[in-house]
Amino acid sequence: MHGFAYRHGSLHCEDVDLQALAEEHGTPLYVYSGNTILDHYRRLDKALGSIDHEVAYAVKANSNLSVLKLLAAEHAGFDIVSGGELFRVIKAGGDPAKCTFAGVGKTRPEIEYALKQGIYSFNVESEEELRYLNEVAADLGVIAPAAVRVNPNVDAKTHKYISTGKSGNKFGVDFDYIADVYARAARELAHVKLRGLQMHIGSQLTSVKPFVEAVEKVAPLATHLKNTYGIEFWSIGGGIGIVYHSSLESGSPSWWAAKPEGERPLTIEEYGAELLPRLQHLGLKILLEPGRYIVGNAGVLLTRCLFEKHGTTKTFKVVDAGMNDLIRPALYEGHHEIAPVKEPGEARRKVDVVGPICESGDFFCQDRELPDFQPGEVVALMSAGAYGFVMASNYNSRPLPAEILVDGSTAKVVRKRQTLDDLIAGEV
Ligand SMILES: *Cc1c(COP(=O)(O)O)cnc(C)c1O
Repeated sequence: MHGFAYRHGSLHCEDVDLQALAEEHGTPLYVYSGNTILDHYRRLDKALGSIDHEVAYAVKANSNLSVLKLLAAEHAGFDIVSGGELFRVIKAGGDPAKCTFAGVGKTRPEIEYALKQGIYSFNVESEEELRYLNEVAADLGVIAPAAVRVNPNVDAKTHKYISTGKSGNKFGVDFDYIADVYARAARELAHVKLRGLQMHIGSQLTSVKPFVEAVEKVAPLATHLKNTYGIEFWSIGGGIGIVYHSSLESGSPSWWAAKPEGERPLTIEEYGAELLPRLQHLGLKILLEPGRYIVGNAGVLLTRCLFEKHGTTKTFKVVDAGMNDLIRPALYEGHHEIAPVKEPGEARRKVDVVGPICESGDFFCQDRELPDFQPGEVVALMSAGAYGFVMASNYNSRPLPAEILVDGSTAKVVRKRQTLDDLIAGEV
């Protein structure tokens, strides 16, 4: 993880001491490194530098307005999955003409809103949706730019809940039928302009192989669609994995030694080097839709240890963050390293770190050897910048945590902690 390191015995985000942030703003607290976000965006942009391309940040990974604003200032594109995300992008100064709209279930109000804002493309996921888009566009008297998502039926070799490119997934149109969908659309749908082709095979891919396999399988289709209907872009999706079993800038602490066999980062340079030669001769604008890669390792969730509870067979460290604040471990067995903010000594202990929520799935690790932190101490759940706050809920009537964005030695509250009154706002 870049942007996070122990200095003078305390974990820092850039030049900001996380202990001081926890004291000032309370816990649980999300903290993001702005310069890490920018660095990831720029590295990816550069890796594809030699071809016509656009990096469209997948907003759903982290949609805080200030995070979006950082990327809007870089002239990034945005991949959105709802009208709400488009609203956020526009509020943050993003360009609707650089927005692609994905998702299997867009509603009429969302489609109308996006048409009026002039987005770049609707990435549709079925022929039924394409016909619906045509109908809504006809009612408004406009032409809707569209791409169809192809499901290439390749195995992304990731967790089954975040695999999207196999024929049993709900996403996209089967590879074998998609050419016919374009043919019928070109014949029958006067209010749709076929602008591109889209795919996205899954999330948290740690090998470049499935990407290569999908690109090689779909490239002839892309060429056919370009020659026949004049499509101008091919989005090859997001899904670039990050290292959750992480090392810090200052070297890997000894308690993070337990990396799974063979886990190594998929570097962005390798991703570019493998894919570029397979894309550059196509003469299409290449879109990427990374979410996790841009923000995942740029954020942590700080939480304070409340109690050490001794069960008959286990020791539990009860912390003040719960699955409502960070659901990845409960939802898809996500791994987060746990680092005491005060640099720990040598003592180790096998523990479960659990939250206060009334669910047995409310844990951040089980039977893990960790430094022996004490009640009152603050620990960081690492790599929590993607699919962290955005999935947080008020379950158990817990106010949503605050979010902080760091730039060098400056730390700004970019979302206030919810109050008890916020919890019941809108209720009668
Ligand atoms: C979620 C999603 C992404 C981003 O996935 P990451 O794994 O975060 O890069 C990109 N494209 C589509 C269509 C998605 O649904």
